[in-house]
Amino acid sequence: MRISDFQIQQVNSRIDALIAADNFYGKKLKAAGITGISSADDFEALPFSEKSDLRDAYPLGLMTAPEDQIVRIHSSSGTTGLPVIIPYTRKDVEDWAIMFKRCYEYAGVTNRDRIQITPGYGLWTAGIGFQAGCELLGAMAIPMGPGNTEKQLKMMVDMESTVLCSTSSYALLLSEEIEKRGIRNQIKLKKGIIGSERWSDKMRKRISESLGIELYDIYGLTEIYGPGIGINCKYNTGMHCWNDYLYIEIIDPKTLRPVPDGEFGEIVITTLVKEGAPLIRYRTHDLSRIIPGECPCGSKHVRLDTIMGRTDDMMKIKGVNVFPSQIEEVLQSFPEASSEYQIRISHLDGKDTMRIYVEASGSVNFQDLADRIAVKVKSAIGFTPIVKVVENGLLPRSEKKTKRVIDERYD
Ligand code: ZN
Repeated sequence: MRISDFQIQQVNSRIDALIAADNFYGKKLKAAGITGISSADDFEALPFSEKSDLRDAYPLGLMTAPEDQIVRIHSSSGTTGLPVIIPYTRKDVEDWAIMFKRCYEYAGVTNRDRIQITPGYGLWTAGIGFQAGCELLGAMAIPMGPGNTEKQLKMMVDMESTVLCSTSSYALLLSEEIEKRGIRNQIKLKKGIIGSERWSDKMRKRISESLGIELYDIYGLTEIYGPGIGINCKYNTGMHCWNDYLYIEIIDPKTLRPVPDGEFGEIVITTLVKEGAPLIRYRTHDLSRIIPGECPCGSKHVRLDTIMGRTDDMMKIKGVNVFPSQIEEVLQSFPEASSEYQIRISHLDGKDTMRIYVEASGSVNFQDLADRIAVKVKSAIGFTPIVKVVENGLLPRSEKKTKRVIDERYD
């Protein structure tokens, strides 16, 4: 789906605002001689923006609305160096809540629900977005924030929470604790809204069956409002992303050209109405595809497939490009393996080595399973890893994102 005429007008109004603000990004556009666009071709010729650009604008170089209109900032973590600061106007904050309310509605959450929110509150946006959408919907927020599993479970039981908002790792941890304590029959959860990391179908199935709940994937990133810019509907055919606030493209990360709907590539997002810090053609480095055709729910909002990983997740091992999702796909095909695994890459005696630790689910011959996994991984990526099968529950669980790939080559 190419950019519509109406969306082109919206982009032009953002370009005008950036140039008028004469900020970091406005100066860049001016220097490139860009004053506006009149066609989809023009749009596709606009320069991309990158996280490194946003970092260069630290601290407030992205601010596009006058300061008296800025009501809040959020920040995204930098794994290297400076963080990125995103200013929000009142309208941006309201728009975000409207989008988030829509996410809850697509998941069938109503004002009779009690929503336990476990993402953190603070500079990194997550929790506050879940909260604002919940209040706008009229549901009851239980603003827990992360961690303290003991207290989470007590509140979940006592408050009779019906919706759990969390990362997939934390949902798994909670479901295991619930099983361990035998309190499943005291839990009233119906739905889980799960965000912010790639997760396998196997893990999804495990959480969903253990807790007996429906799961929804929510998408978002701090640079673009935060979580809540898209979610799957009950037909589970991809995450609907809000066309009235965003324009989504998928590009080939090598040629940087948009790819046809249905093909995998990198997600690039343009904010259509954001005031505090509009972004044009922002490269997310998330890998997915636009799902072609129409959703049975009738919604016209564009659909993104599950996030496959990140362009920078790509590991170069023994000269071969490997994505963690390729390993995950192989592991998923073994019912004897649990959803949990860890990949460790090291450099020994002048050679790269990949070790894969996999948890067994149930009783199985560990060595035999390891050998069969190694054969299948080789046929997927071209070389044989060292596979170790370990007991269920041995690999680390996390309250945030589980680190599954550990590259020890550059320590
Ligand atoms: Zn739908």
